Order: sequence, then structure tokens, then C-alpha cells
Amino acid sequence: MTDDSKPPASTTDSGIPAPSDEYSLTVGPAGPIALHDHYVVQKMQHFNRERVPERVVHAKGSGAHGFFEVTEDVTQFTKAGFLAAVGKRTPVFARFSTVAGEQGFPDTVRDPRGFALKFYTEEGNYDHVGNNTPVFFVRDPSKFQDFIHSQKRLPDTGMRSNDMQWDFWTLSPESAHQVAILMSDRGTPRTLRNMNGYSSHTYSWVNAGGDRFWVKYHFKTVQGPENFTDDEAKAMTAEDPDFHRRDLRTAIDAGECPEWQLEMQIMPFAEAGDYRFNPFDLTKVWPHGDYPPIVVGRLVLDRNPENFFAEVEQSSFNPSNLVPGIGLSPDKMLMARTFSYHDTHLHRVGPNYEQLPINAPKVEVRSYNKDGAMTYRHAGAQPVYAPNSYGGPQADPARGADLGWPVDAGELGRYAYEKHREDDDFGQAGTLYREVMSDVDREHLVTNIVSHASSEVGDEMQLRVIAYWANVDPELGARVAAGLGHENGSSDGHASAQAAELVAGRANRA
Ligand code: NDP
Repeated sequence: MTDDSKPPASTTDSGIPAPSDEYSLTVGPAGPIALHDHYVVQKMQHFNRERVPERVVHAKGSGAHGFFEVTEDVTQFTKAGFLAAVGKRTPVFARFSTVAGEQGFPDTVRDPRGFALKFYTEEGNYDHVGNNTPVFFVRDPSKFQDFIHSQKRLPDTGMRSNDMQWDFWTLSPESAHQVAILMSDRGTPRTLRNMNGYSSHTYSWVNAGGDRFWVKYHFKTVQGPENFTDDEAKAMTAEDPDFHRRDLRTAIDAGECPEWQLEMQIMPFAEAGDYRFNPFDLTKVWPHGDYPPIVVGRLVLDRNPENFFAEVEQSSFNPSNLVPGIGLSPDKMLMARTFSYHDTHLHRVGPNYEQLPINAPKVEVRSYNKDGAMTYRHAGAQPVYAPNSYGGPQADPARGADLGWPVDAGELGRYAYEKHREDDDFGQAGTLYREVMSDVDREHLVTNIVSHASSEVGDEMQLRVIAYWANVDPELGARVAAGLGHENGSSDGHASAQAAELVAGRANRA
């Protein structure tokens, strides 16, 4: 063997040739290990620090690189540079995730899926931080932490609890629309390639002339939506807990690059006030008939990460990363997320997380933030304060203006959302059940609910589950009651009678 054919010499992290990869430094063959064996000691020290805290939500993720390409002219709606010309391509990193489970959790459990995208645009990074569902469980950020706690683990046993989940959901009727989707087969997508992504939130766009629009994003899978049944999803948790991660990686390696078509719903700014639903309520969709989606472009994922930790784990998305031409909306959950995401990355990855290659923009950064742990990029000798007389960068309000909206000044207080004429917590879930789902979808929805609410959920809670679904649709309530064994004449007379009353009450009101 020539020297050239040898592997390269291992080194310390300072690049010094390592003394040995196999033997620690000892006093004689059986003697104590010397503390000054810095190579082995540093190996241990680094190993102990290999993990950063996992995300409290969306801990288990899979990711890939790709691009977004504009296919239709949307300059009448937005001045965003990366959407400025048909054919324009922007590099993207995508991270998909389950929500409630930890890092090692099986991929195919029933859960919404995160659908996060980082567009490395010429005007800085634009992050889209959505889910595979068009709505969410709550509409006020004060309930978010409680909702997540209810999906996680009990403090005493350390176990998840269906009873706890139904307790929160049935006490929070605004969750019904999202729970209907979660309990449908869309709660167990077959692969990450076979699910849609949605902004869920309403955002705003502004064109070069200053005209503003309210918008919703829909990334529609070109592979087609495909889901596992409850049984198939459960079987896959045992067969391959990393099934979704493996599938995405294998497909891209094989050149079967997954693709999504971006379709937008666009509402003229002035129509929000009179719209039949509150257009900023995260528990509602805008029916397609009201605002038909228009095609904007395509998202293609064509390159796997080289290093899972550096790219997938350390990628950090932030809904406040909006480029000129794209803005927020009065959705309270969205406004809260603009604080929460940056804050969690500061804690989890560190104050300079945006300097890591996966998070760094492809454009020059000229900010007045400085120093902190792990500073890598710095601005040299530029002034460290603004305003200054020494040529430091200056904000350009014409380019970076906030996208605002009129606000009726009111008393400072804690308010529910303003109700529009058709707003109702159960209405859109009922429409989904009656008008969109097929007979098979409805059948699976019932069996999925029954299976979930049968597992360590007590009688009283089951009655609340029945009432919840009877509010969505009386027939659905009756089917859930029957599935849970609470139909009239079943062995549990008391609970059955109550269930029958609940369903009948809803039916009379419907
Ligand atoms: P449409 O008939 O125009 O659209 C219904 C949409 O529902 C479909 O385009 C599809 O969205 C989605 N869908 C189809 N099957 C299922 C399923 N089994 N589970 C969940 N979603 C499904 O109706 P509307 O726009 O008038 O909305 C009616 C209901 O459809 C809403 O109340 C809502 O529950 C649901 N929905 C509506 C969406 C919207 O943005 N308008 C988006 C998703 C669901 P997709 O093409 O995005 O897969």
C-alpha cells in the first residue's frame, strides 16, 4: 500500500494530528487514565454536547433542497422580487415534520405535518412555515401552549393520553374543523410527497403600485394526495418508524423529485370586512368557490442534505422572515408566531443561528446586531450604531416598508374574534363531512375517531366526544355514538341514554 492510498490522518478539532484513535493515555497497560490525554478527554466532552435541545414541537423532521419556479405572472398582486418574472427560480430548503412526537417518534402516527420552506431570495430569506392542513386547532395564541401540552405527555406517567386530547378539544370547539381533518385519513399521509402544504394563515401582498391583497397559499402535491388508513399507518410504525424520512430520501436519490404546485387565493383588501367568514380566523378556510385558487409556480425538491444535523436539525424557520411585497395580517396566531419562532431558535440553536450556512441568506447582511456566542460573520469596522455619520448602512423605507392595515382604535382588552355572519365553530367541519368527503372518507373518519376515543377514554369524556361530533353533524354524532357503544339499548344504559339525547338535541337544532 502506498502512502497515497492511506486514509487521511485524523486530527483534533484544532487540526493537530491525533495521537491514537484506539488507545487512551494510561500509566502502564493497567494504570489510570491521565487527565491530560486531551484528545480523548475532548472527544468525550464534545460527545456530551452533541445534541442541541430538540424542538418542543415539530421535533422529528426530514428535509431536502430544491427550487421554486414562477410559472404565472403575479406582478399585479405582489412586488416580491422572487415572484417578479415567469421562469425565475429561487433556491429553497424544505423541512417536513410531525408535531407532537419527539425525535425518535414513528413517522406515520396520526398528527398534522409541518411544511416549512426557506426561500433564499435576492431580497433576503423568505420563510413559509405552514402545515399540511389549511386550518388550525385554536385561533388565539394564549391557548397554543395548553393545546400542545394536551398532545404531549402526562406529568406523572410520562405517557400520551387520548383522554387529555379529547378533554382539550371538546372544551375548545374552535378545534372541530382541524380535528375533523386530523381524524380523517389526511391525518396519516402515505408519504411526505403525497401531502399538500398550506399557509393556513392569511398573509398580505402588495404590488408595485401599492395595491394590497389578502392571500392564502396552497402547495398542492403533484404526486396526488394519498393517505394511509389507520391500520396501515399503525402497521408502518412497527415496520419502519422512519418510513417518511426514508421515502423522501430514496425518491430524490432515484431522481423522482417531488413537486408541488403553488396556488394562491387572493382577496381584494377591501372585501375582508364584509366577507361571510372572518378571513383572519385560523380555524376557517376561504371556500374555493369564493376565491378560486390561481396557479403561481412550482416547488421541486431535487437534492438531499449532506449532513442531517447541519441542515435538517439546525434549519430554523421564522414566519416573520417576509420579503418586500409580502406582509402579515391581523391573524392573532400569526402575529404571535412572529415572536415565538425567532425566540425558540435563539434558545435552541443560539443567538447567531442565522449565521449557520443552512439559515444564512445568500445576500449581504448589513444589520446593527453584533457579537454573541458563536459569532462567525461580522461587519468589520463599520459603525455599531444608527444613525451615524460614518457611512454605516441606512434603512430604505421605500424598500423595506411594513405592510400595514387600518385598525379601528378600541379599548385595550382581551377580545374574541369579531364574528362575521357565517362564523360558527362547527360549520366548515360539517361542510367537509357532508359535501367534500366520499362515503369511504366518512366511514374512515368515524372508525378513526372511534378507535382514538376508545383507547383509555372514560365514559363521561366519550359523551363529550359524541356531543362534539353531533355539533359537526348529527349523523356523524350518531355514528360515533354507535361506534363507541353508546347507542340506545347498548349495555351501558345511562351513558347511552345521554348520548341519544345529545345527538337528538343537535339534530333538532340542525
Ligand atoms: P371545495 O369542494 O371547493 O374544496 C374542497 C377541498 O377539500 C378540496 O379541494 C381538497 O383540498 C379538500 N379535501 C378533499 N378531500 C378532503 C378530505 N378528505 N379531508 C380534508 N380535505 C379534503 O370546497 P370549499 O372550498 O367550499 O370547502 C369546503 C370544505 O373543504 C371546507 O369547509 C374545508 O373543510 C375543506 N377544505 C377547503 C379548503 C379550502 O381552502 N377552501 C382546503 C382544504 C379543505 P385540496 O385541493 O387543498 O386538497
